[in-house]
Formats: sequence, C-alpha cells, structure tokens
Amino acid sequence: MEKNEQIASLAQRLDNCTRCDLYKGANRAVAGEGLPDAKIVFIGEAPGLNEDAQGRPFVGNAGKYLDLLLSKVGLRRKDVFITNVVKHRPPQNRDPLPAEIAACSAWLENQLSVISPKIIVTLGKWSLNRYLPEKKISQVHGEPVRIQNTVVIPMYHPAAAFRRVQIAKELEEDFQKNKGLLQNPQLADEITEAASEDGQGSLF
Ligand code: URA
Repeated sequence: MEKNEQIASLAQRLDNCTRCDLYKGANRAVAGEGLPDAKIVFIGEAPGLNEDAQGRPFVGNAGKYLDLLLSKVGLRRKDVFITNVVKHRPPQNRDPLPAEIAACSAWLENQLSVISPKIIVTLGKWSLNRYLPEKKISQVHGEPVRIQNTVVIPMYHPAAAFRRVQIAKELEEDFQKNKGLLQNPQLADEITEAASEDGQGSLF
C-alpha cells in the first residue's frame, strides 16, 4: 500500500476509535494532515474546539500562528505533516490524562512509522514528554536532539505564546535558529547523539 493510502486508512480507522472515553464528548477524531512522506512532522497536544468542528489540526488561533511561524521559515502546511498526541478533543480543552495519551499512542506511532520523518517538532509539553520525559520545555526548547533515527526539536506550544510575550519571542527565535534545518531536513543526518548531548545539536 502507498503511504497516502496507509495514512488515509489510519485516519479512517481512527474515526471509530473507542480506546479511551474521549470520543464520547468529541464530534470526530482529528487524525492530522499533510504530506504522507513529509520530512518534518509537527506534534501538538490535542484538538480544540475549532479542530473538533472541522476535523483538521491547528485551524484555530494557535493554528493561524503556527502557519505564520511556518511561513517565516519558508514552509507551508502542505510541505509537512501536522498532528497531535491525542486525536479526540478533551472536554473543555482540559489536559489529556496519562491513560488517554497511552491509549492514543499507537495511532501516533503508526503514523510516524508510515511517514518516517527526519525531524519531529514537538509543540508543547505533552509531545515533548513523549520523547524527553525528564526534561522541562524551558530548558530544552529550540535545541535539536537526536533520538534514534529522528531529530526532535522541542518547541513551545503556539498557544503558550498568547499567554506570555516572552514565550512568543523565544518561539520565533527557536524557529529562526532552526531555519536551516527545517528548510533542509537532510542536515538532520549530521546531528549525532554525542553532538546533541554536548548541547551542540544545533548546526546553525
Ligand atoms: N492545539 C493543539 O495542540 N492541537 C491542535 O490541533 C490545535 C490546538
């Protein structure tokens, strides 16, 4: 099966997911969207009100800001894949529970194994937690780190930038700092585990 068919088939099966209770309060699952063989995958937290209404990730205010951040590094949504840790909207946008994240994990794993990206950009603490559970976002944001076959770039969640202007500044700086890597994901191959540990992961 081609990658686009595999991604579409996952989305179709996800529509009927009852692995946790979140589906009961949501209108639909939001699988994610973008290139099935994207070199870069952005992972947010969970669908919000607008995403649940439209069935697409990051289409509200945080999404508009993400679009702007992408455009400032020369990327468009259709160049990447955008998804979330949790695929159904939690009630009142509350934080996802550990059991919900665990129940949803296989969907994300399956998507990532089909797409096989060079770079994963984590947006916010829930997706960072998947890769670097012992790290705080304030310590590691903007620093690429190799984790097995993928380079993870932890970033603040775009919605956090609405709450603190300092976070907006740092988020924009982090995108700019990683612009070369985001424009040329092949460069991720040059980031080794040792370089990441030294804090030398950033090539730019
Ligand atoms: N916030 C997220 O984390 N994901 C979305 O899809 C929208 C807002």
